[in-house]
Amino acid sequence: MNWKCDNCGYTFESEPDKLPEKCPSCQQKCTFLNITCYTPECQIPQGSGIDPRIGKKD
Ligand SMILES: [Zn+2]
Repeated sequence: MNWKCDNCGYTFESEPDKLPEKCPSCQQKCTFLNITCYTPECQIPQGSGIDPRIGKKD
């Protein structure tokens, strides 16, 4: 999975359970954003497995 530091924008690849406590780049305890699905390798089709009606209450 790909992650992006919310503080400095540094991106790296890591397993979710092996995320570093501190950002490798800015050495801060940042929030790491999962950007896996923003990469071209993302194979998940839009809306797959999710009923589009869920969450829509008219
Ligand atoms: Zn950082």
